[in-house]
Formats: sequence, structure tokens, C-alpha cells
Amino acid sequence: MIFETNNEKETFQIGKELGEKAQPGQIFCLNGDLGVGKTVFTKGFAKGLEIEEEVNSPTFTIVQVYDEGRMPLYHFDVYRIGDPEEMYEIGFEDYFYGQGVCLVEWSQLIEELIPKDAIQVVIEKNLDKGLDYRRITVEGI
Ligand code: ADP
Ligand code: MG
Repeated sequence: MIFETNNEKETFQIGKELGEKAQPGQIFCLNGDLGVGKTVFTKGFAKGLEIEEEVNSPTFTIVQVYDEGRMPLYHFDVYRIGDPEEMYEIGFEDYFYGQGVCLVEWSQLIEELIPKDAIQVVIEKNLDKGLDYRRITVEGI
């Protein structure tokens, strides 16, 4: 699936629609350069899960847990991870193979830990189409 958006609201809306359809046990990998809209997408996704709490990128922790929605959301941002070993230290398997849905910003940095059936979301800019244009590719849903 390919979506094209021209502002933050539209990317939020795509995240929301995917969040509404999310199933327990799914892992959404989110990749794309800094500032491309991964966290905007995540905020929409959380809204789609009926999470009202404000969602931000987990800066000081690798994972942030949101428990109040339709199912738990485990929001990872592994940008600052030094070594995939840190994922074992936080017990990532309990999240990846648990009853909630995982969303992993920068999953390519821990590629070896990502299950093969994970859903891949890539967000890209194309400056020829304007500063706010984003192409969102979703595979494996
Ligand atoms: P990331 O998590 O990928 O580093 P963020 O989601 O934190 O990026 O930030 C994306 C930035 O890009 C925001 O400031 C947002 O307002 C801006 N933006 C502009 N156009 C779009 C768009 N089409 N979709 C998402 N964000 C956009
Ligand atoms: Mg982010």
C-alpha cells in the first residue's frame, strides 16, 4: 500500500486508520529519516487504538507503554541504541511476542531482532513535490 500526504494531519490520519485495524501481536516497523513523520504517524496510530494520553518519542527509555487503549501499545524508538544487546536488557521479547501491538521507530538499527512477518512502514520525502510531501509505503499487512 502506498499513501501520499501533504501535511502532518494527513499522516496522522493514515496512522489512525492503521491503528483502528491493528491486531494484538502485530509489529509495525517505522523507518525514514529524522523529521520525516514517524512520531506523527505513531500519534495517529495511538489515537486509532483509542489512547487519549499524549504520545511522544521515548527519549530516555527505549520503550514507552500505553495501557489505556483497545490493546496495549508498546512504542519503541531505538534511534539511540548502542548495541542490540540493550534490547535483551529491557526484555523486548515480552513486548514483541505479547498481547499488545508494537511500533518500532528506526527498526532497521535492530534488524536482526525483528520477526520476518513484521509490517514495514517507510516514510520518505520527495523535495520535488514540496517540503511537506511524504510518501508512506506499508508492506506486509
Ligand atoms: P520523526 O519521528 O520521523 O523524526 P516527527 O514525526 O517527530 O519525525 O516530525 C515530523 C515533522 O515534519 C513535524 O514537525 C511535522 O509537522 C512535519 N511535517 C510536515 N509535513 C508532514 C507530513 N506530510 N507528514 C508528517 N509530518 C510532516
Ligand atoms: Mg520520532
